[in-house]
Amino acid sequence: MKQKKVPMRRCIGCYESKPKKELLRIVKKTDGGIVLDFTGKQNGRGAYVCNNPECLDKIVKGNKLSKEFEIEVLKETYDSLKKQFAENCGSCGEADSSKSGGGAVGK
Ligand SMILES: [Zn+2]
Repeated sequence: MKQKKVPMRRCIGCYESKPKKELLRIVKKTDGGIVLDFTGKQNGRGAYVCNNPECLDKIVKGNKLSKEFEIEVLKETYDSLKKQFAENCGSCGEADSSKSGGGAVGK
């Protein structure tokens, strides 16, 4: 007898395992582009992040995608991910915009 298990995936921001459907998929496409995959159907290597701007922020600040995908990930790529996230995640709450002096990611 097979029981259906909820597929769990780990957020690369906070390293918590959560049901797949609660996470957003980030895909490195076969052409090397990195996008948020809201359909879950994009081909390519995937990583997961909570539906939470804080986790995305951790990923950006820690440059975790470049470790995950073993490629260099440009700041522009992260900016674009943040934008996609914000556009598709209208009610997720604004990131704390009162923080200043961000951006320097020790590089
Ligand atoms: Zn997370």
